[in-house]
Amino acid sequence: MKTQVLICEDSGLCYGAKRAVDNALECQKIYGNVTIFKQLLHNNYTIQNLISKGIKQKDSLALLNSDDFVILRAHGEPPQTYQYLQERGIKFLDCTCPNVLKINKLVKEKDEQGYKIIIVGKHGLNDGQMHPEVYATSKWCKEPYIIEDQQEIKNINFRENKFFLVIQTTFSNEKADKIIQTLEKLFLSNGKIFEYADTTCKAKNRIIDSSIKLAQKVDCMIVVGGKNSSNTIYLYQSLKKYVDTYQIEDEEDLYQLFCANKLKKGKKIGLTGGASTTKEELVGIKQEILKMI
Ligand code: SF4
Repeated sequence: MKTQVLICEDSGLCYGAKRAVDNALECQKIYGNVTIFKQLLHNNYTIQNLISKGIKQKDSLALLNSDDFVILRAHGEPPQTYQYLQERGIKFLDCTCPNVLKINKLVKEKDEQGYKIIIVGKHGLNDGQMHPEVYATSKWCKEPYIIEDQQEIKNINFRENKFFLVIQTTFSNEKADKIIQTLEKLFLSNGKIFEYADTTCKAKNRIIDSSIKLAQKVDCMIVVGGKNSSNTIYLYQSLKKYVDTYQIEDEEDLYQLFCANKLKKGKKIGLTGGASTTKEELVGIKQEILKMI
Protein backbone atom coordinates (compact mmCIF):
# COMPACT_ATOMS: atom_id res chain seq x y z
CA MET A 1 0.00 0.00 0.00
CA LYS A 2 1.18 3.54 -0.78
CA THR A 3 2.38 5.76 2.09
CA GLN A 4 0.07 8.72 2.60
CA VAL A 5 0.96 11.97 4.36
CA LEU A 6 -2.05 14.12 5.26
CA ILE A 7 -1.56 17.72 6.38
CA CYS A 8 -4.02 19.08 8.95
CA GLU A 9 -6.45 21.47 7.23
CA ASP A 10 -6.34 24.15 9.93
CA SER A 11 -2.57 24.12 10.42
CA GLY A 12 -0.40 27.06 9.40
CA LEU A 13 0.52 30.35 11.05
CA CYS A 14 -2.13 31.70 13.42
CA TYR A 15 -3.24 35.25 12.63
CA GLY A 16 -1.06 36.76 15.40
CA ALA A 17 2.09 35.09 14.10
CA LYS A 18 1.20 35.81 10.46
CA ARG A 19 0.62 39.47 11.21
CA ALA A 20 4.06 39.74 12.89
CA VAL A 21 5.87 37.96 10.03
CA ASP A 22 4.05 39.91 7.27
CA ASN A 23 4.73 43.22 9.01
CA ALA A 24 8.43 42.42 9.46
CA LEU A 25 8.75 41.60 5.73
CA GLU A 26 6.76 44.65 4.65
CA CYS A 27 8.81 47.00 6.87
CA GLN A 28 12.04 45.52 5.54
CA LYS A 29 10.88 46.35 2.00
CA ILE A 30 9.91 49.92 2.94
CA TYR A 31 12.56 50.96 5.49
CA GLY A 32 15.33 48.34 5.32
CA ASN A 33 17.39 47.85 8.50
CA VAL A 34 14.58 46.00 10.26
CA THR A 35 15.48 44.42 13.60
CA ILE A 36 13.30 41.94 15.43
CA PHE A 37 13.53 42.41 19.16
CA LYS A 38 14.09 38.89 20.54
CA GLN A 39 12.71 35.77 18.85
CA LEU A 40 9.68 36.98 16.84
CA LEU A 41 7.95 33.63 17.36
CA HIS A 42 8.99 30.17 18.52
CA ASN A 43 9.91 28.71 15.14
CA ASN A 44 13.45 28.60 13.78
CA TYR A 45 12.41 27.88 10.19
CA THR A 46 10.40 31.11 10.01
CA ILE A 47 13.07 33.14 11.83
CA GLN A 48 15.79 31.88 9.48
CA ASN A 49 13.59 32.80 6.53
CA LEU A 50 13.35 36.39 7.84
CA ILE A 51 17.10 36.53 8.49
CA SER A 52 17.74 35.35 4.92
CA LYS A 53 15.86 38.50 3.78
CA GLY A 54 18.32 40.73 5.67
CA ILE A 55 16.25 41.17 8.83
CA LYS A 56 18.31 41.14 12.03
CA GLN A 57 17.48 39.86 15.49
CA LYS A 58 18.75 41.54 18.66
CA ASP A 59 18.07 40.08 22.07
CA SER A 60 18.75 43.01 24.37
CA LEU A 61 17.53 46.62 24.43
CA ALA A 62 21.10 47.86 24.89
CA LEU A 63 22.03 46.45 21.46
CA LEU A 64 19.40 48.50 19.60
CA ASN A 65 20.64 51.51 17.62
CA SER A 66 18.78 54.70 16.81
CA ASP A 67 18.69 53.79 13.09
CA ASP A 68 17.17 50.32 13.68
CA PHE A 69 13.51 49.87 12.76
CA VAL A 70 12.34 47.57 15.54
CA ILE A 71 9.59 44.96 15.35
CA LEU A 72 8.12 43.97 18.71
CA ARG A 73 7.14 40.32 18.74
CA ALA A 74 3.73 38.63 19.00
CA HIS A 75 4.26 37.55 22.64
CA GLY A 76 4.10 41.10 23.95
CA GLU A 77 6.47 43.35 25.85
CA PRO A 78 6.45 44.95 29.30
CA PRO A 79 5.80 48.74 29.56
CA GLN A 80 9.53 49.29 30.19
CA THR A 81 10.36 48.25 26.60
CA TYR A 82 8.03 50.86 25.08
CA GLN A 83 9.41 53.49 27.44
CA TYR A 84 13.02 52.65 26.51
CA LEU A 85 12.31 52.90 22.77
CA GLN A 86 10.28 56.10 23.08
CA GLU A 87 12.86 57.86 25.27
CA ARG A 88 15.58 57.16 22.69
CA GLY A 89 13.45 57.96 19.65
CA ILE A 90 13.93 54.44 18.23
CA LYS A 91 11.25 53.72 15.60
CA PHE A 92 9.24 50.57 16.21
CA LEU A 93 6.15 48.67 15.15
CA ASP A 94 4.26 46.84 17.86
CA CYS A 95 3.35 43.37 16.53
CA THR A 96 2.05 42.07 19.84
CA CYS A 97 -0.87 39.78 19.03
CA PRO A 98 -4.19 41.61 19.64
CA ASN A 99 -5.20 38.77 22.03
CA VAL A 100 -2.15 39.46 24.19
CA LEU A 101 -2.64 43.24 24.06
CA LYS A 102 -6.16 42.67 25.40
CA ILE A 103 -4.83 40.61 28.34
CA ASN A 104 -2.20 43.18 29.22
CA LYS A 105 -4.77 46.00 29.14
CA LEU A 106 -7.13 43.95 31.29
CA VAL A 107 -4.60 43.13 34.01
CA LYS A 108 -3.47 46.78 34.12
CA GLU A 109 -7.07 47.97 34.62
CA LYS A 110 -7.93 45.32 37.21
CA ASP A 111 -4.69 45.98 39.07
CA GLU A 112 -5.59 49.69 39.21
CA GLN A 113 -9.01 48.72 40.59
CA GLY A 114 -7.34 46.93 43.50
CA TYR A 115 -7.56 43.31 42.35
CA LYS A 116 -4.66 40.96 42.99
CA ILE A 117 -3.77 39.45 39.62
CA ILE A 118 -3.28 35.72 39.08
CA ILE A 119 -1.71 34.58 35.81
CA VAL A 120 -2.11 30.92 34.92
CA GLY A 121 0.88 30.17 32.71
CA LYS A 122 4.44 28.93 32.42
CA HIS A 123 6.54 30.62 35.11
CA GLY A 124 9.59 28.53 34.26
CA LEU A 125 10.71 28.00 37.86
CA ASN A 126 11.53 24.39 36.92
CA ASP A 127 13.58 25.06 33.79
CA GLY A 128 14.40 28.78 34.05
CA GLN A 129 12.27 29.56 30.99
CA MET A 130 9.32 31.77 31.85
CA HIS A 131 7.09 32.08 28.79
CA PRO A 132 7.74 35.53 27.22
CA GLU A 133 4.01 36.31 27.13
CA VAL A 134 3.70 35.57 30.87
CA TYR A 135 6.76 37.71 31.55
CA ALA A 136 5.30 40.65 29.60
CA THR A 137 1.85 40.33 31.21
CA SER A 138 3.37 40.10 34.69
CA LYS A 139 4.92 43.55 34.20
CA TRP A 140 1.59 45.25 33.42
CA CYS A 141 0.48 44.80 37.05
CA LYS A 142 2.03 44.70 40.51
CA GLU A 143 3.55 41.40 41.69
CA PRO A 144 1.00 38.93 40.33
CA TYR A 145 0.80 35.31 41.36
CA ILE A 146 1.92 33.06 38.52
CA ILE A 147 0.44 29.56 38.76
CA GLU A 148 1.49 26.72 36.50
CA ASP A 149 0.18 23.80 38.49
CA GLN A 150 -2.73 23.04 40.88
CA GLN A 151 -0.30 22.42 43.73
CA GLU A 152 0.93 26.01 43.58
CA ILE A 153 -2.47 27.34 44.67
CA LYS A 154 -1.22 27.00 48.24
CA ASN A 155 1.18 29.90 47.55
CA ILE A 156 -1.74 32.33 47.27
CA ASN A 157 -2.16 34.62 50.23
CA PHE A 158 -5.82 34.55 51.28
CA ARG A 159 -5.53 37.78 53.27
CA GLU A 160 -6.15 39.66 50.03
CA ASN A 161 -9.79 40.33 49.13
CA LYS A 162 -10.24 40.66 45.38
CA PHE A 163 -8.62 38.43 42.76
CA PHE A 164 -8.62 38.55 38.98
CA LEU A 165 -7.27 35.69 36.89
CA VAL A 166 -6.09 35.51 33.28
CA ILE A 167 -4.58 32.58 31.36
CA GLN A 168 -1.53 32.50 29.07
CA THR A 169 -3.07 32.30 25.58
CA THR A 170 -1.33 29.05 24.66
CA PHE A 171 -1.66 27.30 28.03
CA SER A 172 -3.41 23.92 28.40
CA ASN A 173 -7.19 24.46 28.58
CA GLU A 174 -7.65 21.39 30.81
CA LYS A 175 -5.00 22.45 33.33
CA ALA A 176 -6.34 26.02 33.43
CA ASP A 177 -9.94 24.76 33.96
CA LYS A 178 -8.89 22.63 36.92
CA ILE A 179 -6.98 25.51 38.52
CA ILE A 180 -9.98 27.84 38.06
CA GLN A 181 -12.46 25.33 39.51
CA THR A 182 -10.30 24.79 42.59
CA LEU A 183 -9.75 28.51 43.09
CA GLU A 184 -13.44 29.30 42.66
CA LYS A 185 -14.38 26.92 45.49
CA LEU A 186 -11.59 28.16 47.75
CA PHE A 187 -12.28 31.84 47.22
CA LEU A 188 -16.05 31.48 47.63
CA SER A 189 -15.71 29.50 50.85
CA ASN A 190 -13.38 32.21 52.17
CA GLY A 191 -15.76 35.06 51.23
CA LYS A 192 -13.43 36.51 48.59
CA ILE A 193 -14.26 38.19 45.29
CA PHE A 194 -12.96 36.14 42.37
CA GLU A 195 -13.27 37.03 38.69
CA TYR A 196 -11.53 35.59 35.67
CA ALA A 197 -11.31 35.93 31.91
CA ASP A 198 -10.83 32.92 29.67
CA THR A 199 -7.94 34.34 27.66
CA THR A 200 -6.85 31.07 26.01
CA CYS A 201 -6.41 31.52 22.28
CA LYS A 202 -9.22 30.32 20.03
CA ALA A 203 -6.85 30.08 17.02
CA LYS A 204 -4.70 27.62 18.95
CA ASN A 205 -7.82 25.65 19.96
CA ARG A 206 -8.92 25.43 16.31
CA ILE A 207 -5.58 23.86 15.27
CA ILE A 208 -5.88 21.35 18.15
CA ASP A 209 -9.49 20.35 17.31
CA SER A 210 -8.71 19.90 13.64
CA SER A 211 -5.50 17.93 14.42
CA ILE A 212 -7.42 15.61 16.77
CA LYS A 213 -9.88 14.84 13.93
CA LEU A 214 -6.93 13.96 11.69
CA ALA A 215 -5.26 11.90 14.45
CA GLN A 216 -8.33 9.67 14.56
CA LYS A 217 -7.89 8.73 10.88
CA VAL A 218 -4.14 8.01 10.68
CA ASP A 219 -1.54 5.54 11.98
CA CYS A 220 0.68 8.20 13.55
CA MET A 221 0.96 11.97 13.85
CA ILE A 222 3.98 14.24 13.49
CA VAL A 223 3.82 17.67 15.14
CA VAL A 224 6.23 20.27 13.75
CA GLY A 225 7.24 23.28 15.83
CA GLY A 226 9.78 24.88 18.14
CA LYS A 227 10.83 22.82 21.16
CA ASN A 228 10.30 25.97 23.25
CA SER A 229 6.84 26.63 21.77
CA SER A 230 4.14 26.18 24.44
CA ASN A 231 1.34 25.69 21.95
CA THR A 232 3.35 23.06 20.01
CA ILE A 233 4.03 21.10 23.20
CA TYR A 234 0.36 21.33 24.19
CA LEU A 235 -0.68 20.16 20.70
CA TYR A 236 1.70 17.19 20.95
CA GLN A 237 0.38 16.27 24.42
CA SER A 238 -3.24 16.50 23.21
CA LEU A 239 -2.64 14.27 20.18
CA LYS A 240 -0.68 11.51 21.88
CA LYS A 241 -3.88 10.54 23.73
CA TYR A 242 -5.27 9.42 20.35
CA VAL A 243 -2.41 7.91 18.36
CA ASP A 244 1.40 7.49 18.35
CA THR A 245 2.63 11.08 18.06
CA TYR A 246 6.09 12.54 17.55
CA GLN A 247 7.24 16.14 17.93
CA ILE A 248 9.96 17.40 15.61
CA GLU A 249 11.54 20.79 15.05
CA ASP A 250 13.25 20.26 11.70
CA GLU A 251 14.40 17.80 9.03
CA GLU A 252 17.22 16.58 11.28
CA ASP A 253 14.64 15.44 13.87
CA LEU A 254 12.63 13.83 11.05
CA TYR A 255 15.70 11.89 9.99
CA GLN A 256 16.14 10.68 13.60
CA LEU A 257 12.55 9.37 13.52
CA PHE A 258 13.30 7.57 10.29
CA CYS A 259 16.47 6.01 11.79
CA ALA A 260 14.46 4.90 14.83
CA ASN A 261 12.11 3.09 12.44
CA LYS A 262 9.10 5.19 13.45
CA LEU A 263 8.14 6.07 9.87
CA LYS A 264 6.68 2.99 8.28
CA LYS A 265 6.11 2.44 4.56
CA GLY A 266 2.48 2.02 3.50
CA LYS A 267 1.06 3.82 6.55
CA LYS A 268 -1.09 6.92 6.85
CA ILE A 269 0.87 9.72 8.53
CA GLY A 270 -0.81 12.89 9.81
CA LEU A 271 1.19 16.12 9.81
CA THR A 272 0.40 19.24 11.79
CA GLY A 273 2.22 22.13 13.43
CA GLY A 274 2.06 24.69 16.20
CA ALA A 275 0.60 28.16 15.67
CA SER A 276 3.97 29.46 14.46
CA THR A 277 4.64 26.70 11.93
CA THR A 278 3.90 27.67 8.33
CA LYS A 279 2.04 25.48 5.83
CA GLU A 280 5.10 25.86 3.58
CA GLU A 281 7.27 24.19 6.24
CA LEU A 282 4.76 21.33 6.57
CA VAL A 283 4.71 20.81 2.79
CA GLY A 284 8.54 20.62 2.87
CA ILE A 285 8.42 18.01 5.67
CA LYS A 286 5.79 16.03 3.75
CA GLN A 287 8.06 15.91 0.69
CA GLU A 288 10.97 14.74 2.86
CA ILE A 289 8.87 11.94 4.39
CA LEU A 290 7.80 10.75 0.96
CA LYS A 291 11.44 10.75 -0.20
CA MET A 292 12.50 8.69 2.84
CA ILE A 293 9.87 5.95 2.70
S1 SF4 B 1 -1.43 31.62 19.23
FE1 SF4 B 1 -3.19 32.96 19.46
S2 SF4 B 1 -2.54 34.47 20.99
FE2 SF4 B 1 -0.68 33.49 20.22
S3 SF4 B 1 -0.02 34.80 18.52
FE3 SF4 B 1 -1.33 33.21 17.65
S4 SF4 B 1 -3.39 34.14 17.55
FE4 SF4 B 1 -2.15 35.34 18.97
